Amino acid sequence: MSHGRVLPHGPEIDPDVAEIVNDPGLDTSHGPILYLEGVTVSFDGFRALNNLNLYINDGELRCIIGPNGAGKTTMMDVITGKTRPDEGTVFFGQTIDLLQLDEPAIAHAGIGRKFQKPSVFEQQTVFENLELAMSTDKRVWHTLFARLTGEQRDVIDETLNVIGLAEQVQTRAGSLSHGQKQWLEIGMLLMQKPKVLLVDEPVAGMTHQETERTAELLVSLQGKHSVVVVEHDMEFVRSIARTVTVLHEGSVLTEGTMDEVQHHPRVIEVYLGA
Ligand code: ADP
Ligand code: MG
Repeated sequence: MSHGRVLPHGPEIDPDVAEIVNDPGLDTSHGPILYLEGVTVSFDGFRALNNLNLYINDGELRCIIGPNGAGKTTMMDVITGKTRPDEGTVFFGQTIDLLQLDEPAIAHAGIGRKFQKPSVFEQQTVFENLELAMSTDKRVWHTLFARLTGEQRDVIDETLNVIGLAEQVQTRAGSLSHGQKQWLEIGMLLMQKPKVLLVDEPVAGMTHQETERTAELLVSLQGKHSVVVVEHDMEFVRSIARTVTVLHEGSVLTEGTMDEVQHHPRVIEVYLGA
């Protein structure tokens, strides 16, 4: 079956990896849920990340801004295991060393990532997309629907409400608007019950109304999830931001409230003033 994308989960997890992930479990009692320290990534000598320190707290909604090439996407690549840093430490909670895990294991451990381009299953309905995202085994594709438990249906219903697509439940994903597809994909990530959600430029290409709705959606996720949002749309960032981190040349330039970073002379110079 060709759907132009791979399922968001990898192959069955290696038991050794499952042990790292499950035991002693995610512990955020003494610190951040995501912990990057001294992270450097070089591409042919060019430092896309340069001694980056970044700490995300459990349940927070963090916005990351910065000029093109600042290292925002590379930072997400490091957290999700797509890129290995040359140096540095990357922890999920107190105990899970993400540098020991591959991409599927990191996703399984509870870090979900939403890429810019929506990649839903166009031929399937909204319901089926959520259902497929819940499954951990691709072989159950045809039989899953019949075997959904009441609890699983409740989870799908709950997610439909969170992403605002309850009325589109039987709509083919291919017929949704661009914004609705993005929300569906966030819903698909939520089906995996991630602790952390990384979202790269969620409102690019959205209408004003869709952008506002996306702001509400992401704000509603905080608390239950930690959400890290990279976005260029400053009005959008202002509408959702608690703490804003400004990346520049692979490290944190400054961090603070939207007002603080917007009035920071260096931020104006390297980013906002342009
Ligand atoms: P941002 O998302 O903030 O715009 P990126 O993380 O995509 O920045 O890129 C940071 C820098 O690293 C850029 O200069 C980019 O060209 C470079 N870069 C990113 N990925 C690669 C790669 N795979 N090979 C070489 N250079 C890369
Ligand atoms: Mg980027």
